[in-house]
Amino acid sequence: MAHSTLIDLVGRVLAGRYRLLAPIGSGSSGRVYLADDVRLRRRVAVKVLHGGLADDAGFLRRFRAEAQMAASLHHPHVMAVYDWGEDDGVPFMVLELLKGGSLRSLLDEGPRLSPAQAAHVGRQVAAALAYAHARGLVHRDVKPANLLFDEHGIVRVGDFGLARALAEASWTEPAGTVVGTARYSAPEQAGGGPLDARADLYSLAVVLVEACTGEVPVVGETAIGTLAARSRRGITAPEVLGPLQPVVARAGQPDPEDRYPDAAAMGADLTAAARTLPAPGALPLAGFTAAGDDVEPTRQPMSARDLATRVFDQDASTRPVPVEDEVPLVVAPPRARFRRSMVPVFVAVAVVAALVAGVAAAVAAGGVGGATIAAPSLVGLDEEVAAARATDAGVLMQVVERVTSDDPAGLVIEQRPGPGAFLAEGDDLDVVVSRGPPPVDVPVIAGLPLAEAQAQLEAVGFVVNVVRQHDENVAVDIALGTDPPSPGQAPRESVISLIVSDGPAPVEVPAVAGQGYDTAAANLAEKRFAPVRRDEFSDDVEVGIVIGTDPAAGTLAPRDSEVVVRVSKGPELIAVPPLVGLTVEAASQALADAGLSADVQNFAPGKKVRAQDPSPGTKVKRGAKVTLFL
Ligand code: ATP
Repeated sequence: MAHSTLIDLVGRVLAGRYRLLAPIGSGSSGRVYLADDVRLRRRVAVKVLHGGLADDAGFLRRFRAEAQMAASLHHPHVMAVYDWGEDDGVPFMVLELLKGGSLRSLLDEGPRLSPAQAAHVGRQVAAALAYAHARGLVHRDVKPANLLFDEHGIVRVGDFGLARALAEASWTEPAGTVVGTARYSAPEQAGGGPLDARADLYSLAVVLVEACTGEVPVVGETAIGTLAARSRRGITAPEVLGPLQPVVARAGQPDPEDRYPDAAAMGADLTAAARTLPAPGALPLAGFTAAGDDVEPTRQPMSARDLATRVFDQDASTRPVPVEDEVPLVVAPPRARFRRSMVPVFVAVAVVAALVAGVAAAVAAGGVGGATIAAPSLVGLDEEVAAARATDAGVLMQVVERVTSDDPAGLVIEQRPGPGAFLAEGDDLDVVVSRGPPPVDVPVIAGLPLAEAQAQLEAVGFVVNVVRQHDENVAVDIALGTDPPSPGQAPRESVISLIVSDGPAPVEVPAVAGQGYDTAAANLAEKRFAPVRRDEFSDDVEVGIVIGTDPAAGTLAPRDSEVVVRVSKGPELIAVPPLVGLTVEAASQALADAGLSADVQNFAPGKKVRAQDPSPGTKVKRGAKVTLFL
């Protein structure tokens, strides 16, 4: 697989678990696929690394270490790495599926962010960076392509870890892509020396400017030229960035010492700037596209937080956004979505009031100002994984309810409070877990042809697994029943075995050689074979006696199938041809043609046959000798 083209991988199941459904896109490190996690029955994104990287032993070593580390990061704004591994020597990572596209794709489609939107995105990125930096991890490749949105417009920073493994890879990237491109790099990245967290803050400043203006600031003709220019002068943000200008100016200083000391400080300034701005409008997300994607997105229950966002969006021009809270931006157009949702406005207002009260209470309790925790995003995760993520984040997951739902059993389908809400360490995070889809009646399908039985089972929502079984009385491809059986119930979308007849079990052909034909035929018929007589010459077996069968004795053959019974008609007898008067050569040839051999007396070339024994017309066995007298 290592050298096959990547498009070939659609349809492959990696590590017996991740079925690749369609490519989403590719980057310098590999190709990302929409995939099914067949074990947890959920949609994921799988990044399969380029074959060139898979051949680099050093890269693979680093990849394993970095992937392990990336998978241990759990933060509402860090793209979750669910799993990683190698299939046939090719490394891959299993990522949470983000359906809102990247900031890169959003900008490529034309829109620019307002300062309020950029501040909102920037705060989330800063929070992710603060979390990672606290764990000693510098991203090194913060850029719009690595900032992805979920369907609610919440940012996730992706490719943590991979950036470092890639930067050290000896592999040369495919034409058109640049690993560790200098477009977003801090000037100190030119040296190749150790970097600290402040390099990521510089990159974030570059991203903020590009997000608002479409232009990457301080660039040269070449990568080296860009880094040289950045080491000489800092980033001056254009006026359009408004209150973000000083934030960009500080984070974009050539000398790391002159920048923010850490991501939290930059995040705090972005938050302060956001307070002076109107609420951010909905982000025009580029969305998620996968070739051949006919996929229903995972159902996300509407959280109180979503509702709150929608209310703020209704009133975006006048009401300042409560920036202390992580208010997600919804996919445009929010007004239309809100109207469709049919949620009475007073309910939403009540929810907002509750949220604001919650924040106020948290502030009063010293939560917001002190060591608060952002509630991790648990919806869509398997119960165990969610519990581990909550523990890692410092809160305790409590399953408050198990409900029957269309989601697979064991999946977290709701959480209270929502992702990003303020919690104190050790607080409870309540979740609702799916018990799986409701059971449905198993239809009666016995006696139906295979295709019809399968269609009936699929129509009620089962995944059909056809199992063939021999049956002495039911014809091939006729349904015998199901497992679980009918009458009975089974969860919708569960696998049901459709048991179909494979006809009668095969039977061993009995040994009938040496028997008279009638006896042999009776013995075969007793085993439910259909004997077919074929008479053959035999030098050894007496006339009328069975030589053998086809298929041979001991072979397994389908019941009711034909068995050829080879019956001896004695040895084959050949009439000796007339040879007198022929030359010895012609006579010998005539005997050979007839299946006999010549015994020549007084041989001399060209001599004629005077007499023969046996005489012409005598019947002899095949191969018998005829004496020629010359
Ligand atoms: P580079 O590798 O050079 O940094 P990139 O970040 O665009 O470039 P990838 O990370 O390989 O490259 O992503 C390839 C494509 O897949 C992009 O369009 C990206 O938006 C998309 N993508 C990456 N991760 C996910 C994900 N978890 N869910 C949905 N789409 C994703």
